[in-house]
Amino acid sequence: MKLDHPKWSIRAGLTLGFTIVLALMVTLMAIAVVWMTRIDRELDVIVNSNLAKTELAHTMETALRERAIAMHTIAVMQDPFEKDAYAQRFDTLGSLFTTARAQLEALPLSDAELNLLKKIKTLTSTTMPYARAAVETAMTARSREDTLAALDEIRINAVPRQSLIAEELTALITLQKDATERTAHDAKTDYHNAIVLMITIGTLAIGLGLLVAIFVIRNATRQATKLQHQAMFDGLTNLPNRVLFHDRLQQAVLSSRRDKRMFALLSLDLNRFKEVNDTLGHHQGDKLLNKVAQRLLSHARESDTIARLGGDEFSLLLPSTDISGGAVFAQKLLKLMTEEFNLDGKQVSVGASIGIAIFPEHGQDPEVLMQHADAAMYIAKRANTGFEFYDEAIGNNTLSNIALKNDLRHAIERNQLRLYYQPKIGHDLGKVTGLEALVRWQHPEHGLVPPDRFIALAESTGFIQPLTAWVVEEAVRQCALLHRSGMYLSMAVNISAINLKDAELPKKISAVLSTHQLHPKWLEIEVTESAVMDDTLCTLRVLEELDVLGTRLSIDDYGTGYSSLANIKKLPLNDIKIDKSFVMGMSDNHADETIVRSTIEMGHGLGLRVVAEGVEDQATGNRLTELGCDSAQGYFMSRPLPPEHLLKWLHESPWGLAADAATLAEPSTPPTAE
Ligand code: C2E
Ligand code: MG
Ligand code: MG
Repeated sequence: MKLDHPKWSIRAGLTLGFTIVLALMVTLMAIAVVWMTRIDRELDVIVNSNLAKTELAHTMETALRERAIAMHTIAVMQDPFEKDAYAQRFDTLGSLFTTARAQLEALPLSDAELNLLKKIKTLTSTTMPYARAAVETAMTARSREDTLAALDEIRINAVPRQSLIAEELTALITLQKDATERTAHDAKTDYHNAIVLMITIGTLAIGLGLLVAIFVIRNATRQATKLQHQAMFDGLTNLPNRVLFHDRLQQAVLSSRRDKRMFALLSLDLNRFKEVNDTLGHHQGDKLLNKVAQRLLSHARESDTIARLGGDEFSLLLPSTDISGGAVFAQKLLKLMTEEFNLDGKQVSVGASIGIAIFPEHGQDPEVLMQHADAAMYIAKRANTGFEFYDEAIGNNTLSNIALKNDLRHAIERNQLRLYYQPKIGHDLGKVTGLEALVRWQHPEHGLVPPDRFIALAESTGFIQPLTAWVVEEAVRQCALLHRSGMYLSMAVNISAINLKDAELPKKISAVLSTHQLHPKWLEIEVTESAVMDDTLCTLRVLEELDVLGTRLSIDDYGTGYSSLANIKKLPLNDIKIDKSFVMGMSDNHADETIVRSTIEMGHGLGLRVVAEGVEDQATGNRLTELGCDSAQGYFMSRPLPPEHLLKWLHESPWGLAADAATLAEPSTPPTAE
């Protein structure tokens, strides 16, 4: 699995930050516990040990001093009872001294203290006999001389020895005082250190915690802004997306309604985007979309909104723009989109189709305006006119295009496609020579949908490939069945410009022909004039391969696509089909008749057969025969028919071929009348 790097590093940073803060807090607690225990122990030493030792040393010192006083008192006392009492006090003080020393010895002592105590003990044992002897002498002293002698003994023998002990005791007390001071100092230092360390670590933890918090808040805010941006803008081009565009459109409707102003909504779809994607790859397709977005942006006003709604669909909102402003802008955009794009050194021309809806004329709420701009765009695409305004008449036919788009994908698997056949009559023989297969969509809700309503949709969604494959297969199958019944008619199928970009098309058609054992010469490929004029290498190669295969090639709707003779000459053509708009009008319109006549002459001059479509009356038929038109097709002879009606027509009409109906195969799809 690939790591999402920024998210991963944020997570790692946060984990590290929190871990450090946690570690600092734990250290803070540990330091608090360790140092406080230490200070507590130090205070304990001061209170329980040092103070006790000092007190015991003081007791010994006092006892010693008072023993000296007792000795002197005994010596100067006359009353034997009082002497006795002081002698007892002398002894008691002696025991007090020894008990205090023993207690001192029982306490934990340093080496220096032990040494001092040892000295005191030794001094005590050497002093004891002298003191005792001095006390004995003092006890027995009765006269002034005795007393003086006893006092001398005390002064000379006992007191100096006792003074030695007192000196050692003073040293002991000083030692303990020092030790107490030292421990108190240590405790104070420890306390100070602990406070400093705790404040430092606490500050660090708070600082780091704050940093982590700032980091989290900043990242969360950034993430929220990013998500908000993603929800409103297209990730590829950075243009507003459908959500934001819809919002702006809603605002535009409200403010334009309030200020009684117009605005234009343009729906723009690239014409050959799919081709770029298929031939150069999605990467280049994405690049192209970006360049388109940049080009659109560079030519828009600041107040305009340009959005990418998905795929190669863009929408533009032009405030304060009326019909003429919309038309001028659309023309400008079309020009921009026909200029070549450079994709890593490859020059690509895409072109676009634009549908325009003007507020309030073509709709008063966002949904309707969007639908109407889309509907107009489909018409522009289908008719190859560049741009179209919404028109209620076309709207009725195309309103449900968006819904149809979804259903169309399932039309084949749900067996909803039908082929109708329109006979072509050869003028020389007056008999049917071929059929044109025209597709229809038997929609469960909308009934029989004519091709004009869904071919452009199929082209824009890529569904045209399976649709054409189905049409070719079905038409060839039907033609082969007719042949087996002895009716040798040609079969024409309409192939979209997009199919001609499929290098495999000749191979696929050849496979279908061999499956149904139909000679290629019976299959006629009808391609619109605009489709062959887009003479990319691939289109030319496909047409040449089809020619080699042996199928016939016919230019459909001739006269609508401004093709030059030079271009036509390059193509492996067999037939030219004059567009019905000229044929239908030729009886009353001299210009139309001139176009028809000159097309027939030009076609013949190039060695081509000329077919007229849209023959609606006898007069037109007759005139076409006079002009030397090779073949004709139109409502006058027959409308496009479902297979079973076709059989009837072939049997009964004046142009039909005589055939044995019993040998005709059953139609492949259920009959429906057009
Ligand atoms: P087209 O190939 O030019 O077909 C002729 C159209 O003119 C047919 O319309 C036909 O019904 C109509 N038509 C024929 N005679 C007359 C007439 O006397 N008067 C009038 N007013 N109309 C007449 P349809 O069947 O609606 O097809 C429209 C277009 O749809 C076709 O024009 C063709 O370009 C396209 N189309 C039909 N089937 C297919 C298909 O299988 N694949 C592709 N790619 N396009 C198809
Ligand atoms: Mg046709
Ligand atoms: Mg036509």
